[in-house]
Amino acid sequence: MSADVIVVGAGIVGAACAAELAARGLVVDVVDARGIGGGATAAGMGHIVVMNDSAAEFALTRASRDLWLALAPHLRERDAFVRCGTVWAAEDDEELDAAQTMRDAFAAGGVRAHLLDATGLREAEPSLSHALRGGVLVDDDAIVYAPAAAQWLLTRSEGAARIRVVTGCAVAGVAATDSAASITLRGGERCHAAHVVVANGIAAAELIDGVSLEAKKGHLLITDRYPGTIRHQVAELGYIKSAHHARGVSVAFNAQPRPTGQILIGSSRQFGNVDPAIDARVLALMLRRASRFLPGIGALNAIRAWTGLRAATPDGMPLIGPARFAGDRLWLAAGHEGLGVTTSLGTAALLADQILGAMQAPYAAAFSPQRFAREPVDG
Ligand SMILES: Cc1cc2nc3c(=O)[nH]c(=O)nc-3n(C[C@H](O)[C@H](O)[C@H](O)COP(=O)(O)OP(=O)(O)OC[C@H]3O[C@@H](n4cnc5c(N)ncnc54)[C@H](O)[C@@H]3O)c2cc1C
Repeated sequence: MSADVIVVGAGIVGAACAAELAARGLVVDVVDARGIGGGATAAGMGHIVVMNDSAAEFALTRASRDLWLALAPHLRERDAFVRCGTVWAAEDDEELDAAQTMRDAFAAGGVRAHLLDATGLREAEPSLSHALRGGVLVDDDAIVYAPAAAQWLLTRSEGAARIRVVTGCAVAGVAATDSAASITLRGGERCHAAHVVVANGIAAAELIDGVSLEAKKGHLLITDRYPGTIRHQVAELGYIKSAHHARGVSVAFNAQPRPTGQILIGSSRQFGNVDPAIDARVLALMLRRASRFLPGIGALNAIRAWTGLRAATPDGMPLIGPARFAGDRLWLAAGHEGLGVTTSLGTAALLADQILGAMQAPYAAAFSPQRFAREPVDG
């Protein structure tokens, strides 16, 4: 190998980083232990969504969604990109207030969003429970089939001729000095480059000391084809609480209309559980929750259910930047939890700016891995 950059991991984050660096003229080798888009990327929902839990999250998700919208005309049918929008549904007064706050924050940040009363919600999504009080419609959110998009980024994007992908090749170690970096393959072979980007998802902690990532297991289920049942990605406003703040097992309603007419139903979160087996009890809880919002769901045929692991940092924000210290040639792009498909393109832009010494976005510091650097111990 002889590349400017070696990217470890061909999930959506590694693929996006490789594509961005190649588009900026660098020669990139991508090494994956398995195949393209086979990790969390294959297990996820592919909802491209603006979230505003914090100013930095809002900035990154919004910038990333804009990048997806710009990429969309170039993607193939099999990448299944649809700008379907998101409907956030409110069950009670407290969630209606949250809907108003969300709409106001989005409007202030230039994100198209509309408050829906109960009638507006029913018009937008007639299959939703008529007991719901209203919600918010976010026009420009989208969906994508992330494993295919990862493959597109690595093989069809603007700089793809400068990307070489090596699959079935596990990286056992990474190293760097202030002028070069290297990886060691499991077979012992060492490969050198000017920079190494570690983007191997939940396994990043195995390659970089001090990285703390916790698994958040999730279940998803897909139905047979029922075109038109829902038109937008639909989620309960309570999802935001469940996604970021819960411990133990939590479920929240989240449903996606696939271009095939199938409905993808989520979602669950279990901390620290890395067993890939389906837990029938959690799946049942998730479906019971979904039927509260989509009462007709019990009559649909499910054809497959699966699980995946989200890689969560202690503060729920991804790790994007120098892996160990400023000036390092070892870089991290990992820990994207439940938003890695959305934020992959924004992550790649932030990381490429840093690697190439370009002007950084003002919110870049919020994602620096250095925020978890251990304080020096006195005495
Ligand atoms: C149930 C569920 C639902 C989700 N829904 C959404 C959603 O709707 N929207 C959204 O934005 N995000 C969603 N996510 C999150 C999203 O899927 C992830 O954040 C994203 O896929 C992470 O991508 P990644 O490239 O960092 O990691 P991965 O996709 O896990 O890729 C890591 C790659 O690294 C490789 N690798 C690991 N170790 C090594 C090694 N030592 N050497 C070489 N290669 C190695 C693996 O083989 C793998 O291919 C969801 C996740 C789950 C589990």
